[in-house]
Amino acid sequence: MANMETVQSNFIKQIINEHNASGRYGGRVHTRFPPEPNGYLHIGHAKSICLNFGIAEEYGGKCNLRFDDTNPVKENVEYVDSIKEDIRWLGFDWEDREFYASDYFETLYEYAVKLIRDGKAYVCELTGEEIRAYRGTLTETGRNSPYRDRSVEENFDLFQRMRAGDYPDGSRTLRAKIDMASPNLNMRDPIMYRILRAHHHRTGDAWCIYPTYDWAHGQSDSIEGITHSICTLEFEDHRPLYDWYVTQLEIHHPRQIEFARLNITCTVMSKRKLLRLVQEGIVDGWDDPRMPTISGLRRRGYTPGSLRDFSDRVGVAKKESTIDMALLEHCIREDLNAHALRVMAVLDPLKVVITNYPASEIEEMEAVNNPEDATAGSRAVPFSRELYIEREDFMEDPPKKFFRLAPGREVRLRYAYIIRCEEVIKDAEGNIVELHCTYDSETRSGLPQANRKVKGTLHWVSAPHAVDAEVRLYEQLFDREHPETTDEEGQDFLANLNPASLQIVQAKVEPSLASAMAGTHFQFERKGYFTVDSRYGKKGAPVFNRTVTLRDTWAKIHKGQKTTP
Ligand code: ATP
Ligand code: MG
Repeated sequence: MANMETVQSNFIKQIINEHNASGRYGGRVHTRFPPEPNGYLHIGHAKSICLNFGIAEEYGGKCNLRFDDTNPVKENVEYVDSIKEDIRWLGFDWEDREFYASDYFETLYEYAVKLIRDGKAYVCELTGEEIRAYRGTLTETGRNSPYRDRSVEENFDLFQRMRAGDYPDGSRTLRAKIDMASPNLNMRDPIMYRILRAHHHRTGDAWCIYPTYDWAHGQSDSIEGITHSICTLEFEDHRPLYDWYVTQLEIHHPRQIEFARLNITCTVMSKRKLLRLVQEGIVDGWDDPRMPTISGLRRRGYTPGSLRDFSDRVGVAKKESTIDMALLEHCIREDLNAHALRVMAVLDPLKVVITNYPASEIEEMEAVNNPEDATAGSRAVPFSRELYIEREDFMEDPPKKFFRLAPGREVRLRYAYIIRCEEVIKDAEGNIVELHCTYDSETRSGLPQANRKVKGTLHWVSAPHAVDAEVRLYEQLFDREHPETTDEEGQDFLANLNPASLQIVQAKVEPSLASAMAGTHFQFERKGYFTVDSRYGKKGAPVFNRTVTLRDTWAKIHKGQKTTP
C-alpha cells in the first residue's frame, strides 16, 4: 500500500512539474476549490480542499474559493456560509479570493454571443425530451437538431430575446454547435443556457436564463487565471468540451487534472443522498455526528488536523476505491491520544459501597491528565465511601480469564485503592443493584507499599460527587460496507441503515466535567474518546458525543505498515 500511494500522490505534481519546466504557465500554480452551494461539505470535499490548497501552498501559488452557483433552484446562502465555515475550520485561507460563477454571468453571456457570432452556437427549440432522443447513445450517433442551421443573425436575435424574458421557461436553449456524431456524448451539441425563472441567492431576478455547469465551469476557471483545474474523474469526459470552449473563445487555457473521488465504507457521500437523510429526519441535520459531513465530523469530535492527516494518507489515485472507515478513525485516535484529557466516566453505573471506609471521609486522588503529555499536569479526583463502577466490570459468576471484579476477588480502583467484593445486593427480581466491598488502606496509589499485584484496574466515580451526563454512543450510520449498492431486492440505500447507529445512555462522570466546554476532547478511560456536543452540550446536564472507541482495528490490521510516504 505504501508504495502505491507514494506514486499516486505524485501524478498531479508530476504534471505541474512538467509545466513548470516547460514554462507553460510561467511557473505559476493557481488552483481553486469550486463547490456548488447545494449542500454541506463532506469528507470527500475535505480531500479536495486539502489537495487544492495544499498544492498551491507547496508551490508557493494561490488557491481560490469559487462557488459554482449556476443552479439557483438548489442553492442557498445557508450552504454558502456553512462551506466557508468548514474550509476555515479545516485551516485553509482563500484570502480575498472568494468568487462566484454568478459574478461572471455577464462575461459568460458575452462569450456566448461570440460563439453565436462565430457560428458555433445556436438557439434550439427542441424540448428536453427531444434533445435527449436526438442525442443518441454510446453505440448510436446523434441526429442534428432541426434548428441547428439558423443564421447567425437569427440566433443572436433569439438569444437576446431569451435573456429579455420573451419566452417561457424551458421553451428554448442555447447549444454549442460541435458534433452530433462525436463518440463523446458531451460533445453532441451540449446545452449552454436554459430559460429558468428562479430567484438566485446573489443575482436575484436579474436573469431568467442560466448557464449550465458545463458552460460556466471551464470559463470561470479561465477568467480566474487558474492553471490547474483539479477535479474528480467523472469530469474526464467533459475535458474535451471544456478545452473546446476555451479554444474557440481564445482565452486562457487551464489544464484539467482528474483524480478518483474519495469513498468510505459504511457511509454515503453524495449530497443528494445526504440531503434525503436530512429531509426525511433520519438524522439530526447536516451536522448530525453520524454524517460524513465536515460539520458532522466536527460535532462528533474530529479535529481539523485529523482530517488533513487522513487526506494525506489516502493520497490521490486515478482509480476509484473505497477507503476503510477504520483509517479515518485511526487518524483521529492518533491525534486525540496525544491531546485529549483523560478522565473517568461511568457509562452504565453500578453502585459500590466500601463498607470499611469512613462515611464522612473524602480523599483527593491525584489523576494524570495525559500520560502522553507531561505538560498536561494532573488534577484531584474525589474518592468516598460510595462509588460507581461500570456494570460490565462485575460478574457474579466469572470465567477464569475475567480479571475484573467478582465475589471474593480484588481489583485496583484507578488512582485509589485495591478493593475486594464481599457481598452482592439484589432487588426482588434478582437484579444486582449494589456491591458491598472492603478496601485495603495500605494500597493507596503512589504509596511504596501500593505495589501489591492485582490483575485488573477499574475506572470509577465518587457517587456524591458524580455529575449526571447524557452520553451519545455512535456507530456507523449504515451496516453495509457499500450501502449505495442496491441489494438483491433492489432496495435503495435507506434499507441499509444501521438501527443501532445512536444509543443514548445516562452516565455518571467525574466532577471536573461539569463545566466542560464544547469542542474539548476527552478520553473517558477504558471507554473511548468523547467531546461535548456543540448543540445540546450546555443544556443542564452535559451531553457528550462519542468520537470513537479505543479499539483501533486499522492499526491492528495494518501493524507495521506505514501509509504515509
Ligand atoms: P456530490 O456528488 O457529493 O454532490 P459534487 O461533486 O457534486 O459532490 P461539488 O460541490 O461540485 O460537489 O464539489 C466541489 C469539489 O469537490 C469538486 O471539485 C469535486 O470534484 C470535489 N469532490 C466532491 N466529492 C468528492 C469526493 N468524494 N472526493 C473527492 N473530491 C470530491
Ligand atoms: Mg459537482
